[in-house]
Amino acid sequence: MIYIGSHLSVSAGYAAMAEKMAEDYHGNTYAFFLRSPRGGKAKVPEEADLVKMQKIRAEHHFGPMVAHAPYTMNPCSAREDIRELAVTMMTEDLAQMERMAALSPEEPIYYNFHPGSHTGQGVDRGIEETAEVLNRVIRPDQHTTVLLETMAGKGSEIGKTFEELKRIMDLVEPEKAAHLGVCFDTCHTWDAGYDLVYDPDGVFAAFDREIGLERLFAVHLNDSKNPLEAAKDRHEKLGEGYLGAKALERIVQHPALQGRPFILETPNDDAGYRREIALVKSWNQ
Ligand code: FE
Ligand code: FE
Ligand code: ZN
Repeated sequence: MIYIGSHLSVSAGYAAMAEKMAEDYHGNTYAFFLRSPRGGKAKVPEEADLVKMQKIRAEHHFGPMVAHAPYTMNPCSAREDIRELAVTMMTEDLAQMERMAALSPEEPIYYNFHPGSHTGQGVDRGIEETAEVLNRVIRPDQHTTVLLETMAGKGSEIGKTFEELKRIMDLVEPEKAAHLGVCFDTCHTWDAGYDLVYDPDGVFAAFDREIGLERLFAVHLNDSKNPLEAAKDRHEKLGEGYLGAKALERIVQHPALQGRPFILETPNDDAGYRREIALVKSWNQ
């Protein structure tokens, strides 16, 4: 069994997200941005709103939430001011995550981010800088697990191989690295050259060898507009891209991924998300 949901807008509040997922989309997990995806100032949620959200989630037996860091955040930019901004945003976001976690301390909670683009400094330097940001923002006693997302490798993105993600994690101090994991994005991983259509078993075996499947905490379930190794990162509706319905069904059913929250980041309207959530449920009863 897996949890299935989609990315939601926080604009109507936190409890409203849980309500929308439960009552409208009929899913049991979701993702959201704590601030504008472009990285504007964070809106600090009301305590009562968070309490109500956690109550709805508990009533409907939801799986863990997967908050997403702003996608413009770049912890390994060549520019120091941009790296510092990543420290500020992540620190603030994690403080909000801890407020939610405190209301429901027995369940996991995830904050996922893109490891960044080295903007010309080279992969090795990028890996070091992203690890340094993690060392600065993670507290050994925090509840939130910080997830590095598998990336497509467009431009100078780091994290396009499992090995690069592992190298970042290995540079984080052990008591902080205990709060790290990976969010596996199917579109990105495919675009990076991992063949999820013809050899999903091989891909997950490679993940297990390089990082360990026990560190794979969440999945972004997307089809891809582009062929294997395209390094593009353009999401497609389930079954309408190069991954296709059959490969996505096998991923949803894969023994290595059971128990995880699966988040749709597909280009859809309300009806589309309702349909895709029902489809994924039909694949995994
Ligand atoms: Fe992402
Ligand atoms: Fe993603
Ligand atoms: Zn993407």
